[in-house]
Amino acid sequence: MADSSNGAKNIDLVNRSITSVWHPCTQMKHHEQFPLVALTRGDGVWLIDADGSRYLDAVSSWWVNLFGHANPRINAALIDQLGKLEHAMLAGFTHEPVVELSERLGKLTGLGHAFYGSDGASAVEIALKMSFHFWRNTGKPRKQKFVSLEGSYHGETLGALAVTDVAIFRDAYGPLLNNNLSAPFPAAPSNKNKTQALAGVLGQCCPECTVDASDRLEKLFAERHDEIAAFIVEPLVQGAAGMRMYHPAYLQQARALCTRYNIHFIADEIMTGFGRTGTMFACEQANITPDLICLSKGITGGYLPLSCVLTTDEIYAAFYDDDSTRGFLHSHSYTGSALACRAALATLDIFASDNIIAKNHAKADRWLALITPIIEHPQVKNFRQCGMIFAFDVETKAPTFAREFFARSLKRGALLRPIGTTVYFMPPYILEDDAFGWLVKQTLDVIDEMENNGLL
Ligand SMILES: *Cc1c(COP(=O)(O)O)cnc(C)c1O
Repeated sequence: MADSSNGAKNIDLVNRSITSVWHPCTQMKHHEQFPLVALTRGDGVWLIDADGSRYLDAVSSWWVNLFGHANPRINAALIDQLGKLEHAMLAGFTHEPVVELSERLGKLTGLGHAFYGSDGASAVEIALKMSFHFWRNTGKPRKQKFVSLEGSYHGETLGALAVTDVAIFRDAYGPLLNNNLSAPFPAAPSNKNKTQALAGVLGQCCPECTVDASDRLEKLFAERHDEIAAFIVEPLVQGAAGMRMYHPAYLQQARALCTRYNIHFIADEIMTGFGRTGTMFACEQANITPDLICLSKGITGGYLPLSCVLTTDEIYAAFYDDDSTRGFLHSHSYTGSALACRAALATLDIFASDNIIAKNHAKADRWLALITPIIEHPQVKNFRQCGMIFAFDVETKAPTFAREFFARSLKRGALLRPIGTTVYFMPPYILEDDAFGWLVKQTLDVIDEMENNGLL
């Protein structure tokens, strides 16, 4: 692969971007050392820059892309929709794409009354507000607190950040955040040795590991249920905390406790939803239905910003009244965008017609065989896998590991963006076996190169 920093077109766009764009989740000064990449095209699993270098998008562009860039079927649906209606306000109006999407998401989740936002964080805000307002409407206005897990990530707007426990996102804004409650994560983060990983006990630990955590959750609920509106959780996998996985038994225990103590169960499936953990939604693996579910990211196949909260008839009914202040008076300008809903419908069509969930199972099994050299590498520990998420930790003390690894894999044409010392593959589902094998090879080469240069 050509070094992306050499080409003239690339440099021009990069310089203009550095002057005019404030990039997300970035210390801009680091770009003095690690240049931006100026993309011009996407083609399936590949991103292509201004100089023609290609990068395999192994993190699905921040976990959103499911069926590749410039997907012909999603493109065709959007072009059709553009000729009909791009977007109109959803208060007082409706349209075919939003109705059909709501019906289909209702069938898939077992919930209903789809309420739309644009980003994942806005779905979390909606779910938190709905829960609090439900209790207010039903005579329990003291239920104002939310419980989340150690290591939770639910987005970065102020309400979502107040139920997030990732120091790098949260600490600077601590004084602005409401005081909520934290419960222990249901498994030790480094719970697996290599033999267990190879034997197929991957990532999720054992049902017994969840007992202590659910006992402590129960203690918290028993003491403070009068003040607790909802429990919010990333089912099966905590993404931003470093792909931390736990056993579905915990979700069953937490669901039962929420019911017993009159606390809403909010499933944040923004990352885990749409097949990422091996089922359409992660909650299915625990056989539970939440009271509220938050969806975004993969919902449009990675095309357009769209998020959605679905809930129970009981919650919906508590807002249904002649009095408008008992209604849920929340809105975003682009709520239920027709174009975004149409991209979501095209995405659901691909799931159904191509039998994606079953195909991904077989694919994940084949990829587990291909990834063995990484699991066996002496610098690698805590390999874990859940559905189409593969993660492991690299033994290193280098504080700049993530940035160095990112830059070195990019030079080889692989887009990998470690979280701390955790490297993960979360590729689009259309990735083929040979490309996965190639990705494994690049990853091993980067680890060896860093080791040889004294960077681990
Ligand atoms: C990404 C993510 C969010 C926030 O979504 P944005 O679209 O980035 O606001 C919330 N919860 C989880 C679990 C996520 O992975």
